[in-house]
Amino acid sequence: MKRIAILGSTGSIGSSTLKVIRRHPDRFKAVALAANSNIDELLLQVKEFSPESVCVIDEKAAARFALRIKNKGIKLYPGKQGLKELISCTGIDRMVLAITGSSALEPLLTAIERKIDVALANKEALVMAGSIIMGKARRHNVRILPIDSEQSAIWQCLAKEDKRALKRIYLTASGGPFRKTSRSLFKKIELKQVLKHPRWNMGRKITVDSATLMNKGFELLEAMALFDLSSDKVSILIHPEAICHSMVEFNDGVVMAQLSATDMRIPIQYALTFPDRLESGFSGIDFCALKSLNFEKPDFKKFPCLGLSLKAARMLGTMPAVLNAANEIAVNEFLAGNLRFFLIPDIVRTVMNRHKNIINPSLAQILAADAWAKQQTAAVIGKL
Ligand code: NDP
Ligand code: MG
Repeated sequence: MKRIAILGSTGSIGSSTLKVIRRHPDRFKAVALAANSNIDELLLQVKEFSPESVCVIDEKAAARFALRIKNKGIKLYPGKQGLKELISCTGIDRMVLAITGSSALEPLLTAIERKIDVALANKEALVMAGSIIMGKARRHNVRILPIDSEQSAIWQCLAKEDKRALKRIYLTASGGPFRKTSRSLFKKIELKQVLKHPRWNMGRKITVDSATLMNKGFELLEAMALFDLSSDKVSILIHPEAICHSMVEFNDGVVMAQLSATDMRIPIQYALTFPDRLESGFSGIDFCALKSLNFEKPDFKKFPCLGLSLKAARMLGTMPAVLNAANEIAVNEFLAGNLRFFLIPDIVRTVMNRHKNIINPSLAQILAADAWAKQQTAAVIGKL
């Protein structure tokens, strides 16, 4: 029985992870759950899965939650410090990290220090500090098992291969809700259009990132960190059907692809069962019903976040952390109704242009760049 912790259990990936666990109760036990403030959902999860430990990050919500689980024999760890203790004290075999945004960086580093294998959905931490995270994981002999569907596809294609024969990887992207929208209409885009993703049902932040294609730019940086690649080895391809989850090309001209249904339970389950495969309830692809799979070049003019990510991926240093931080604040402001959608890339570009990049940064320098960029972004938006 594998003892699983789910950080971000109340979110889209978190609840899909619990569906996988529900399907395989003989293999997995959800021993620890963590959420930010959604205690109603967390309580439902606690009632069904009876974890040993829970964490509520928001301290006020944690105090309310304490009353609701009184006498249930569950240990409650409140706040950020509590999350650290939960990771350290619960006896976890594999940790699913499904917290959104830069807040995932600290718990990820804690898990690595505690030698816990991480099934990683969060991508922002790798964007910020990819080489530091992967270096630390290697030193502590910890496995980072990707959940993001594109990275899972690449991982599966590379599993039995000699990486020296790798020529390039193709990251596929559905193209988001505005693939066919003319650039001239971007100024009119409203929140409710952005939140309607054509293929995936996800949390709000990644749904916005998928509409600007920043999500794909982040995945470029994520792949570079996970598979130790330079930016010139990664190509982005629009693939509207979202059936081929990514591809790998070798030096003999062979291309390997991973195809499966468009459902995150598949890569989540693989990150939990690796190196085994278990039945998932999904059948393969009905190719005749599908008829065609389409691929096209991304439009860098319509989606400037792709170019900004590529710039950060070529510069590395602290620039990817600045890219991430500026985007995080801009997306939050857009979600709060304080910023127009089309301005998100302009804001990120402005903050990146103000940043003095530091090459080979320490963790402290990355965290300082993150804090600086968040403050700068808020100031730029405040002056609009
Ligand atoms: P959601 O917004 O649906 O869920 C986020 C989860 O994180 C919630 O449980 C939330 O708690 C918790 N959370 C939010 N802020 C904090 C914080 N500061 N500290 C601790 N916990 C916090 O996001 P998704 O599940 O969609 O995405 C999670 C991560 O996985 C993201 O990094 C995303 O990029 C990545 N990912 C997601 C995919 C998807 O299909 N959804 C696909 C590939 C990657 P609460 O509910 O209490 O607010
Ligand atoms: Mg993805």
